[in-house]
Amino acid sequence: MRKIDYIRISITDRCNLRCVYCMPEEGVELLKHQDMMSFEEIYNLIKALVPLGIKKIRLTGGEPLVRQNIEELIKMIRSIPEIEDITLTTNGILLEEMADGLKQAGLSRVNVSLDSLDENKFKKITRWGNLEKVLKGIDKAIEVGLNPVKINVVAIKGFNDDEFIKFIDFAYYKEVQVRFIELMPIGESDEEAILKHYPIDDIKTLIETKYKLEENTHIRTNGPAENYNIVGAVGSVGFIGALSHKFCSTCNRLRLTADGRFRPCLYIDKEYDVLSLIRKGASDEELREFVQKIILGKPEGHNMEDGWGNQRRKMSQIGG
Ligand code: SAM
Ligand code: SF4
Repeated sequence: MRKIDYIRISITDRCNLRCVYCMPEEGVELLKHQDMMSFEEIYNLIKALVPLGIKKIRLTGGEPLVRQNIEELIKMIRSIPEIEDITLTTNGILLEEMADGLKQAGLSRVNVSLDSLDENKFKKITRWGNLEKVLKGIDKAIEVGLNPVKINVVAIKGFNDDEFIKFIDFAYYKEVQVRFIELMPIGESDEEAILKHYPIDDIKTLIETKYKLEENTHIRTNGPAENYNIVGAVGSVGFIGALSHKFCSTCNRLRLTADGRFRPCLYIDKEYDVLSLIRKGASDEELREFVQKIILGKPEGHNMEDGWGNQRRKMSQIGG
């Protein structure tokens, strides 16, 4: 049976940005507060699932840092001894002010999404984001020890392909891992014209015109990234090719939406409502059985290459 040791939990569908590939400008229809999982429900569910081998939790969203008192949730999860790693994916806007508290609450490290190092382009892709704030957030995260800080760059043909080398220059002097991620056909299709995925092999070839890369099997985890050292640099680089290098067969994660639905695959619109079970008073054993069945039914592969699907839910709602 497939070994699942990692749950990505979306703790909110709200966001303080509107990245063009993720959300329409006006936002999406938001969940009602009572339909979202409470911290207590999330904590109890994780505890119930620990015997299945869950060791790692990633908090995401929407923007996880806009959920009130997220530090409390991190402290609760940290109190479960079997959970080795608690990580967070954020757009970084609130990171400078929150990094210290997050570290103290027990967060292990952060991934910061950053698609451009140019102020105007950053505004264009996020619609109103402030690049300087994100850069300060990254520095603060490094300073307080939320390491290794990973920078997620969604690679988009015709938008940021002229900056791939600039991102490596950035990692040359900073202790970060820049990770190039192929744009996936999930989310907003109305701006599809500018949103073209850029195959990771081509990104690597481009980078190698200036830098020497050495595969780093040392930091190779069972995650989807192929990791490389940049010779002479402080930082490193990783590549995630959901389209060109499918990693479905080794995918070790389940996703839990903010309204308590398990989703075995990002791309496949199939969800299992665990929150209703919890609210009906299911025992830990029943929750484990429920999740084991989902793991057994986890698909062998996706068909993203077919293009933009008609997903009922956007990335911000699923939890990217
Ligand atoms: N708001 C947080 C953030 O932006 O980091 C967490 C949620 S966001 C949905 C998680 C990640 O998904 C971000 O790195 C974002 O760039 C990525 N993402 C969203 N839509 C995507 C798409 N269609 N293809 C590839 N990555 C996408
Ligand atoms: Fe918000 Fe993250 Fe989606 Fe951008 S990618 S709109 S920051 S949830």
